Amino acid sequence: MTADVNKQTLGFQTEARQLLHLMIHSLYSNKEIFLRELISNASDAIDKLRFLALSDESLLEGQADFEIRVDLDKEGKTLTITDNGVGMNRDEVVENLGTIARSGTAAFLENLTGDQKKDSQLIGQFGVGFYSAFIVADRVEVRTRKAGEPAANGVLWESHGESEFSIAPLEREQRGTSITLYLKSDCLDFADDWRVRSVIKKYSDHISVPVKMLEPAKSDAEEGEEPAQQEYKAVNEATALWTRPRNEISDDEYKAFYRHVSHDFEDPLTWSHNKVEGKQEYTSLLYIPRRAPFDLWQRDMTRGLKLYVQRTFIMDDAEQFLPLYLRFVKGVVDSSDLPLNVSREILQQDSQVEAMRSALTKRVLDMLGKLASKQPEDYATFWKEFGQVLKEGPAEDFGNREKIAGLLRFSTTHTDKPEQDQSLADYVGRMQEGQDKIYYVVAENFNTARKSPHLEVFRKKGIEVLLLSDRVDDWLMNQLQEFDGKSFQDVARGTLELDDEAKEAQEQLKKDSEALVERLGKVLEAQVAEVRPTVRLTDSPACLVVGEYDMGAQMRRLLEAAGQQVPDSKLILEINPAHPLLQMLDAEQDEARFADLAHIIFDQASLAEGGQLEDPAAYVERLNSLLLELSRRD
Ligand code: ADP
Repeated sequence: MTADVNKQTLGFQTEARQLLHLMIHSLYSNKEIFLRELISNASDAIDKLRFLALSDESLLEGQADFEIRVDLDKEGKTLTITDNGVGMNRDEVVENLGTIARSGTAAFLENLTGDQKKDSQLIGQFGVGFYSAFIVADRVEVRTRKAGEPAANGVLWESHGESEFSIAPLEREQRGTSITLYLKSDCLDFADDWRVRSVIKKYSDHISVPVKMLEPAKSDAEEGEEPAQQEYKAVNEATALWTRPRNEISDDEYKAFYRHVSHDFEDPLTWSHNKVEGKQEYTSLLYIPRRAPFDLWQRDMTRGLKLYVQRTFIMDDAEQFLPLYLRFVKGVVDSSDLPLNVSREILQQDSQVEAMRSALTKRVLDMLGKLASKQPEDYATFWKEFGQVLKEGPAEDFGNREKIAGLLRFSTTHTDKPEQDQSLADYVGRMQEGQDKIYYVVAENFNTARKSPHLEVFRKKGIEVLLLSDRVDDWLMNQLQEFDGKSFQDVARGTLELDDEAKEAQEQLKKDSEALVERLGKVLEAQVAEVRPTVRLTDSPACLVVGEYDMGAQMRRLLEAAGQQVPDSKLILEINPAHPLLQMLDAEQDEARFADLAHIIFDQASLAEGGQLEDPAAYVERLNSLLLELSRRD
């Protein structure tokens, strides 16, 4: 009853409770990850202290040898992980290990798939690593003291991983954190020396802090003599991976390091490791993930590289080293030139950082280019996951526009499949003689694009057209302007000038259909900007075209969705005078019937593009009266 007077019992926040429940009952197929998570936390705590000590050396309390220790007690059935990092005070313990107001936890729960293996892989990604302790333990004790505070400020946290935890003061000489897991009866292999060593090697080789375990010292002791003194020895490699020469690092080591920096469980698609020397000196190790993170489209997504200066950890998520459209890249940059006390504010204005950013951007684009040519299947995965983000590139990064354009992938009439797997270079390679433009059509979805009446003449002449239906495509095409010296042309915009032959045919058509065009123009005056005949249609009676300088329908929707006022602009109705419907219209003497038919043709052109009718009821009424008339004729 002595120490317990100050002990306080608190309830876990609901979400934490749900999570714990999940850990305990279902995330069972990959138990060993708890060790990776806890060692990773210990190494982060050491990195943090190292960084803080740069400006306040007293925090080190005279001890600057950093290490993580893993102790096993087979009889007591425990595993203990101890670090001499930054530690936590009482409030931090409650905040970090109890009440969890972390957005990650809720997001984690929302993203659960029900598939145990996949769900356990999510744990790290959502930053709920500490709780993985309860996969193997039915009781966890955390002893910790914050660096720089008196021994009396130690804290003991305890929980059975159910609904509550307790917290009590503790006298603790040693700074840092010690986590003891009381292993469940079916997890006792984690008290086994060999087993634990192999897990540490597997996950923590690349961590720059030594992870040590007790090892009997070498001795020549004879039988009957005192057993040799045991000492702690490093189990892992413990050199910062990126500082080692490339040819000495195995793919497995690169992959393990990726998991450490990204918290992703899957292997990366590719990586690039470079040491730059000369005017600026830095090392970078950049990875392309295989899968988009859950928050890729959230404004507050954490992004950026881990920044080190001369091997000292400075900050996570240093976002100044890459543009926003490459926010999916993970990795490390270690500079020899930046000052150790560099802050986010300084990074924002620093000209060295600017130069590094531009070099790193090029490096990522080159890495993607290489992936596309050497591992097309992996590139297809990349495109599916991150293509939409890359499409932001041409607007954000004018200088690299052409390079980014080369990395884009599209559906086209060449394959007529929804898969976006054709590059602009592929398209240009197939261009017809005399063709000087890259044609594209934009629609709400792939099928509408593929069936657009605007494509008729292109299909007839065998000219390829890009089929675009992503939300940002219209906008993207406006940014791109040209590729390989060829400009882009929306097939539903402006007049169509395919070749001389078509131009002549167009002139002839104009003369022949003057009267019809004029009649139609009068009837549809309120709806369209202009009526004109076209050679672009072969099967359809009419289509709608955007004026050369007017805004496209998709762009309009995009802006309206963003809450912007968009000025109204009318479309142009292009007609196919050779079509039987138009010929019937031309012959129609009854003005009222002519008007009804004209409206129907206009409305149908709009429907064919996936557009919405302004007055659908009127359309139905007109069509019905026509149908009735037909039935009366019989
Ligand atoms: P994450 O590490 O992704 O933030 P965790 O649940 O693993 O999530 O840890 C929660 C927080 O608890 C950490 O962010 C850190 O502030 C604190 N923490 C965990 N382990 C340690 C440790 N060994 N030393 C100091 N702080 C720790």
